[in-house]
Amino acid sequence: MTFATRLVLPPGLLEAAENLAPKHARLEAALERFRTSGGSADATLDLELNFGLFDSAAMRALVDAMGDVDQQSAVARLLRGIAASRRSELDEALVLLPPVALEARLELDERLLAWTLSEWGRASAMKGERLRAFELVQECLLLTRTLEWPEHEALTLCHLGLLYGQEGESEPYAAYTRQALTLYRELGDSQGITQCLVNLGGALTTLRELDEAARCYAEALLMAHASGWAYLEALALAGRGGLRFQEGDVDEGLVDYRASAVLLEARAQHFQLTRHDLLVGRHLLRANRGVEAMEWARSCLARAESYGFDELKAGAHELLSSSLSLLGRHEEAVGALRTFCDLREQRVQQQVADAQRGAEQAQHELLTRKQAQWERERGTELQAKNDELAVALAAQEQLRAELEQVSRTDPLTGLANRREMDRYLCQAVAQAGRSWRPLSFVLLDVDHFKQVNDRFGHAGGDAVLVELARRLRERMRASDLLARWGGEEFCMILPDTVVAGAFTVAERVRRLVADTPFLVGNELLKVTISLGVANLEPGRCEAVRLLQAADEALYAAKRAGRNRIGNPLRLPVPPRLGREPL
Ligand code: GH3
Ligand code: MG
Ligand code: MG
Repeated sequence: MTFATRLVLPPGLLEAAENLAPKHARLEAALERFRTSGGSADATLDLELNFGLFDSAAMRALVDAMGDVDQQSAVARLLRGIAASRRSELDEALVLLPPVALEARLELDERLLAWTLSEWGRASAMKGERLRAFELVQECLLLTRTLEWPEHEALTLCHLGLLYGQEGESEPYAAYTRQALTLYRELGDSQGITQCLVNLGGALTTLRELDEAARCYAEALLMAHASGWAYLEALALAGRGGLRFQEGDVDEGLVDYRASAVLLEARAQHFQLTRHDLLVGRHLLRANRGVEAMEWARSCLARAESYGFDELKAGAHELLSSSLSLLGRHEEAVGALRTFCDLREQRVQQQVADAQRGAEQAQHELLTRKQAQWERERGTELQAKNDELAVALAAQEQLRAELEQVSRTDPLTGLANRREMDRYLCQAVAQAGRSWRPLSFVLLDVDHFKQVNDRFGHAGGDAVLVELARRLRERMRASDLLARWGGEEFCMILPDTVVAGAFTVAERVRRLVADTPFLVGNELLKVTISLGVANLEPGRCEAVRLLQAADEALYAAKRAGRNRIGNPLRLPVPPRLGREPL
């Protein structure tokens, strides 16, 4: 996996994380994993995200300070989404997060996807988009289990519990929270433990298991206070307040909620504050304290309107209506109830539209994913085919080169064959004609070779031919061509060689053969050759006439007794076609 969706560590993050880590065990653990892994992609992502969760404002400032390209990366957008969501800017978060999830899916970057799904799920839940929140968090849970990533699994279980809690389904709320708690205890994550204790306290309060709820809050408060985790302390205080309301101790409950509100205000936790306003108002309503209930409802409404918490806004109208009704202000109560009903209806309509859009988007995402997958597979397939083709082409090219070589070579002696000699001769004659340079041609034939074959067999004759080729080759210049003309006849093409030069070469070759006997089997055999020399004087001539002349000279040598060079014959120079050189 390439993690093309990931970005480098924003400058300054490491130092900021180091400063913050002593207060947050989870961040400290992430920092430790980052160091021991040597800054692996997964550990970097975890560090960034954990830091972003604990100090979203600082994270956002670091992202803002990065270059434009880095700011466009998926992780930067995820971090912005987190910052927006933590500042209760849910609409912005819900614009930022879905494309990151899509990108993570396309890149098959499962850890990035898991982080994005939890954040998107959380923001959707706060926005009241419960169905979507459930889907996202469930998917995230599956993913973390596949990835065997207990830290994130615990976080996701905790989210899932909270979602059920929001639905008023306290049994699954308690069950998932207990699972998360067990995991956090195994991981030794005291912050996670505290969070789960607060949530479990809430679930148990609703289930009227008040003693256990009280124990949860007591433990959570102790841990949060001792460690200076103000947000968790605020949640625990509010939870204990709720419990006290349940126990009928309204004033004690209010004390806890107010203490909680101070901590939440300091951290600008608008969503929790708004939610708590509603909860307190409902408790006060149940305690028949209509005026106070109405005040809390108004506070809830104001906050919900300014931050766009639609679900809580509807709740605030309902609470307002009930409070007014309790106070005998029925007309106003009906007005508030009507607004509540309108909001609910809008909500339902929006949910229907969302569901439709969600289905369309899911379809689109699926198609895009399939397309990307298909392209990826197709790319790999094509690459494999290309590789195969390249190998086949290379083999074919080698074969072609070998065939070409074979087609030019005489298999017995390894010299150029007749075909190659013809080709070379035509070129050499043309070249000599063009440049007014001399060219000589020597044809040689083994004397009485038939007798060699008769005496030593065909193999013996072959051995003589091979040895002869070796001797001739040794004496040749690089510019000359030596070829087997056929049978026991050989030829030499000597460019830039005048007739006297060719004669010298021919004589040297003759002696090279005649002076040193050939070893055939165990016997030394005296072998001689006859040669015919022909040459072109500067000018033009045809190759065929040159061959004819050499053949005639060779024949003359044979007739004159063999082991000699036929009188070199000077070919008549044909009428000149070009100008004579100076
Ligand atoms: P001369 O001096 O007149 O050239 O006599 P010669 O016996 O060499 O002449 P001739 O052309 O009658 O015989 C050539 C012999 O060369 C006949 C043929 O069997 C033999 N020969 C041709 N090609 C090969 C070959 O590749 N290997 C062997 N061993 N013999 C060959
Ligand atoms: Mg012959
Ligand atoms: Mg012969």
